[in-house]
Amino acid sequence: MYSRGHRDVYDGWLRDGNVGWGYDDVLPFFKMSENNKDYHTKHHGNRGPISVRKPTEILPITRTLMEAAQELGYEEIDMSDPEPMGFSIAQLMMSSAKTRVTTPTAYLRPHLRTRSNLRVRINSHVTRLLVDADRRSVYGVEYVDGSNRTRRLTARKEVILCAGVIGSAHLLMLSGIGPAEDLRPLGVPVVQDLRVGHNLQHHVGSKLTFQLNVTNDQLLSFDAIGQYMKHRSGPLSTTGALQTSAFLRSDRAGPAEPADVQLFFDGYSPNCDYAQPWYGSQCAAATAPAVMNVRPVNIRPLSQGSIRLASADPFVRPLIDPNYLAAEADVDVLVWGLRLANDLVTRTKALQRLGATVDRKPVDQCSRHAFGTDPYWKCLVRYHTQGENHHAGTCKMGPASDPTAVVDLELRVHRVQGVRVADSSVFPTQPNCNPIAPAIMVAERAAHFIKNTWH
Ligand SMILES: Cc1cc2nc3c(=O)[nH]c(=O)nc-3n(C[C@H](O)[C@H](O)[C@H](O)COP(=O)(O)OP(=O)(O)OC[C@H]3O[C@@H](n4cnc5c(N)ncnc54)[C@H](O)[C@@H]3O)c2cc1C
Repeated sequence: MYSRGHRDVYDGWLRDGNVGWGYDDVLPFFKMSENNKDYHTKHHGNRGPISVRKPTEILPITRTLMEAAQELGYEEIDMSDPEPMGFSIAQLMMSSAKTRVTTPTAYLRPHLRTRSNLRVRINSHVTRLLVDADRRSVYGVEYVDGSNRTRRLTARKEVILCAGVIGSAHLLMLSGIGPAEDLRPLGVPVVQDLRVGHNLQHHVGSKLTFQLNVTNDQLLSFDAIGQYMKHRSGPLSTTGALQTSAFLRSDRAGPAEPADVQLFFDGYSPNCDYAQPWYGSQCAAATAPAVMNVRPVNIRPLSQGSIRLASADPFVRPLIDPNYLAAEADVDVLVWGLRLANDLVTRTKALQRLGATVDRKPVDQCSRHAFGTDPYWKCLVRYHTQGENHHAGTCKMGPASDPTAVVDLELRVHRVQGVRVADSSVFPTQPNCNPIAPAIMVAERAAHFIKNTWH
């Protein structure tokens, strides 16, 4: 799913001293990577390596959900609008061959044989950065290869670290770049005391499950498999119920504030396990009712977690404290989202036509609360808590005056020579959207900074 978040996220980065990272600054870098097949407007790029499009096959359930949204007063939007608010048939990173486009397929594979300065080492685990502690300068990496041999690579110019929100923070700390009070007790010599691993952000949600009086056995058929294998079309060429998404403003957000709730839909498959209480042993894929989830996700959470080093051994995983829902306001946002989801399912003609019924007792621990009350929704949020795979922030970007910043405005690690970080760990705050497009934007910016530095 491709989206970029509200312009105010980036303008907020700018307000916090990240000069050159406001929305108008980053927009050209979003467009640079994008080859949008549906929109040809000033907000979109049409010549980049990442093909972006809506699914070519729109499922009937998607149309139903869009109709239901309209009944509640929501408009259909472009998810990459600078101020997205409403429902959308989500755009995907998908090629004309109707297969998923990833950063390796778009940026790396086409150049593997043609670029003499590009070599990819697979099955290799980086264990630390090589650091000249006296000069506070990074000059390479150490890694263990697929044959379990420890190897070193030295850099003539600089190392670009892009191991992600957990991996980049972990590697910096293993290399002595991180909170001194955590590194010293583990025997890691401190090269630079920085707040690496702090500011861990994640989009967290909950879910409302409902059943429809329709069957959906298409996905499980040989016809569907044949259609996809031969023509790359049919139900398997797309993302199922995930075709629909929405950006919404809860009652916790001010009237002019960006969306703080994103809705996802999933399921819409015959689910015998789930339908057993209703259908008993009669349940069979062809006749089982379709079961779906609406998942409201808090995309502007206040709660923050952290990553700390557990050991100086690079193969010992770091300690991750997600600290989800520490702020009660984060729970309230999701309560609003669940109420909205319940309205969508039970109060719209579009979904009622399909006999939509909400599962009113999905979690045993919440059965002491009456369905639909605030305590019930709060309980559901705390027991059905789901991370959305949208992590950010552990190597936060910020100016030198920001004591919590790890990298500067050109993504160089503060007060250490020879290393930049280029991934979603540098986001000062997580954009209120699916994060792959912002991560690619950061990579495009990093490429720009590197070229400017060395050419
Ligand atoms: C199941 C799933 C579905 C998702 N769907 C979407 C979606 O539809 N839309 C969207 O916008 N986002 C989606 N995301 C989120 C998106 O994939 C991430 O936000 C994005 O990939 C983050 O990019 P990154 O470059 O920061 O890190 P990553 O993509 O995680 O890249 C880090 C890389 O570094 C490697 N690495 C880490 N440590 C080491 C080490 N020590 N040595 C060697 N290599 C190392 C990792 O293996 C990984 O390949 C999804 C995520 C998941 C897990």
